[in-house]
Amino acid sequence: MAIADILHELEHHPRPCDKEGLKKSIRDALIHQAGKDPLEATPRDWLEAVSYAVRERMIERRMFTQRLFNREHAKRVYYLSMEYLIGRMLINSLLNLGFYDPTREALSEMGVDLLTIAELEPDAALGNGGLGRLAACILDSMASQCMPGYGYGIRYEYGMFQQQIEHGQQVEHPDNWLRYGNNWEFARPEKLFRVRFYGRVITHRDNGNIRHHWQDCEEVIAMAYDYPMPGYGNKNVNNLRLWAAKATRDFDLNYFNEGDYIGAIQKKAETETISMVLYPNDATAIGRELRLKQEYFFVSASIQDILQHHEEMGYRISELADKVALQLNDTHPAIAVAELMHLLLDKHELPWMTAWEITKSVFGYTNHTLLPEALETWPVAVMERVLPRHMQIIYDINFHFMNEVRHTFPGDTEIVRRLSIIDEDHGRQVRMAHLAVVGSHKINGVAALHTALLKDTLFNDFYRLWPERFVSITNGITPRLWLNQANPALSDLISEHIGRDWVMDLSQLKALESFADVARCRAEFRSVKEANKRHLASLVLERTGIHIDPTAMFDVQVKRIHEYKRQLLNLLHVVAFYNRIRRGEAAQQAPRVVLFAGKAAPSYMRAKQIIRLINDVADVINHDPVVDGWLKVVFYPNYDVSSAAVIIPAADLSEQISTAGMEASGTGNMKLALNGALTIGTLDGANVEIREAVGEENIFIFGLTAEQVAETRQRGYRPRTHYEENAELREVLDMIRSGFFSPDERGRYRALVDDLLGNDAFLVLADFAAYVEAQERADALYRNPEEWTRRAMLNTARMGYFSIDRTVQQYAEEVWGVNPECWI
Ligand SMILES: *Cc1c(COP(=O)(O)O)cnc(C)c1O
Repeated sequence: MAIADILHELEHHPRPCDKEGLKKSIRDALIHQAGKDPLEATPRDWLEAVSYAVRERMIERRMFTQRLFNREHAKRVYYLSMEYLIGRMLINSLLNLGFYDPTREALSEMGVDLLTIAELEPDAALGNGGLGRLAACILDSMASQCMPGYGYGIRYEYGMFQQQIEHGQQVEHPDNWLRYGNNWEFARPEKLFRVRFYGRVITHRDNGNIRHHWQDCEEVIAMAYDYPMPGYGNKNVNNLRLWAAKATRDFDLNYFNEGDYIGAIQKKAETETISMVLYPNDATAIGRELRLKQEYFFVSASIQDILQHHEEMGYRISELADKVALQLNDTHPAIAVAELMHLLLDKHELPWMTAWEITKSVFGYTNHTLLPEALETWPVAVMERVLPRHMQIIYDINFHFMNEVRHTFPGDTEIVRRLSIIDEDHGRQVRMAHLAVVGSHKINGVAALHTALLKDTLFNDFYRLWPERFVSITNGITPRLWLNQANPALSDLISEHIGRDWVMDLSQLKALESFADVARCRAEFRSVKEANKRHLASLVLERTGIHIDPTAMFDVQVKRIHEYKRQLLNLLHVVAFYNRIRRGEAAQQAPRVVLFAGKAAPSYMRAKQIIRLINDVADVINHDPVVDGWLKVVFYPNYDVSSAAVIIPAADLSEQISTAGMEASGTGNMKLALNGALTIGTLDGANVEIREAVGEENIFIFGLTAEQVAETRQRGYRPRTHYEENAELREVLDMIRSGFFSPDERGRYRALVDDLLGNDAFLVLADFAAYVEAQERADALYRNPEEWTRRAMLNTARMGYFSIDRTVQQYAEEVWGVNPECWI
């Protein structure tokens, strides 16, 4: 019925989606939008033209999708996220919409190669890593499942920096992704909201009620830009709305009349810096005022927009929780709890308790990390200055909350102190995670182990208070991008055997299990992997000048560079392996290519040093004729969604070796296993569940468990013992420390090694021996290609659980209270 309605409406004015129709649209767009003579068009002009042709068709569908949701009075899910790591949109849109083949053929008849022009599209890299990519996968899933799901975020002028490697070191370049305009966005100059900062709060009585007025503020305008998000295999198109900061018109009048024209322009530019740049820090809180302003800016605009739509629909404000679910992607948007209260109290004039019940019912909060350095806090003094009314509201929320705590734990003053939203021990700070927990009806961790640790440690007091609020929702990845699009050869092979329905129901991959026992099927699977490896090898040569052998084992660690992810552990093994080859002890070992990729936060000196060490080690090893044919080390620059989509299908071995207890979930681990890489990893994050899914004989698990890590630390960890007792480790560390890999500056890594020996906060040395042993198991298996392939196929077949569609269904049922079945 619902879909039939859409189809009926589309019948009146649809743009044709066959080859001829697309061809006409592309040609028209080339001439009328890009303004180019087809004879003189550049590849970028063709990209613009084809994007327009696709966009036109998406926008029609989005219109009907929205009409349908409105007509059905659907409950809407709003996903609030500071980050969306989307990547390129053209091929993804074509595949989701089902226009891929006709578009490719239409272009080809005009002498243009689709895949060539698609490469010119810059990645939309409005995120740092896993958290931002999760948000993008969730949008794809909500659209593909016909769920009324809306993303809200910031339209950064500059996304994640571009990484170049110069003399082995990371150099950051600005990501000017909007340089040539953006073919996908719709500017909405009529969708404007005022966002206020600073000023003061005036209190007065009105019929016995206390009213608050926030005045003398600085104002910024949030202007909407919309990005259509097409579902796969349906006609549903959802929306991502990103806000850009603009100076107000009053601002223009006030400042320009003062006669200082240039000064006024400067001030204007300053206000608009709010949406200028994404902070490139992953898993660390940024204590800058501009960051707080970014957070509040997008949250305030989004909530105003959401409430406006609610009212336009004719709903009462008291019905908000029936019509709206708001998901906080980490604490970055947690100020939304205070903002919604502010609007309900000061604008809608609801009584406190009514406003608070609505607020709690509306919000869900996803925690992404236990790392202390990632927990956001704002000095009370800063919050008071930037958002004075919100600071009052936070105090009031805390007052009611503290009363509840005292009631539940009478006489326990310690727990009151620990639970308070205000941290009094570190110079009065607002704990944003506490605000998020107190203001949400559901709090979720992103993998089973992570949620268990949340309950035991970071949120233990909250868990004792409200056990029913805590749920575990393991992350997932979209099969549309990470298998169907990134690995077309494997996708076709799978579909030959089991049909193509797995794209929307990944659990169907289970049916591949039996093919793992068929030699011919294994040969086909292997030849797909080999072709993907040849493709990656050609890109590695192009980007780094390094020749790699596609028949070697491709051992990959691709993710942000972070000490807890332990790229160093991998590198210590590389050096140990190098030494074994030089000593002639590795004669029967399989040749390897060890590939690293990932960005370091520009201010994270140790992470940047790790990149340099990887490159220094690579330089020595890749130029040593003794190990030629055995070992190559590659640092692939500028890891982003587009390069992930090339590297991951070519991987044999997936490195997921974080210190147990520190990786909340990981999603790179899922992408790699789904594409038939075997995992070498610790029992951390979702690795635990991947092991359960694929079977413990099909994964290389090693090292300390989260519990053992905690015990080791408690006992008083002494890393030097491992150095003293393990000759191979000692040799490796001595080489690095003495400058073997940095002959031009022998002391370059002395401090780094000394830190490992004296401190080793991430237990690299404690896990080294077990890791080397696990690498030996991986090597032995790789030398048996039939058995390796069998297990790789079983990995692919058993990864269905890690589809983002399952994740989103869990959120829908357990947090949002929407039923996806209704909207299909
Ligand atoms: C999936 C992904 C990540 C997250 O990788 P993890 O291994 O889970 O840390 C980071 N960056 C990009 C570009 C990704 O695609």
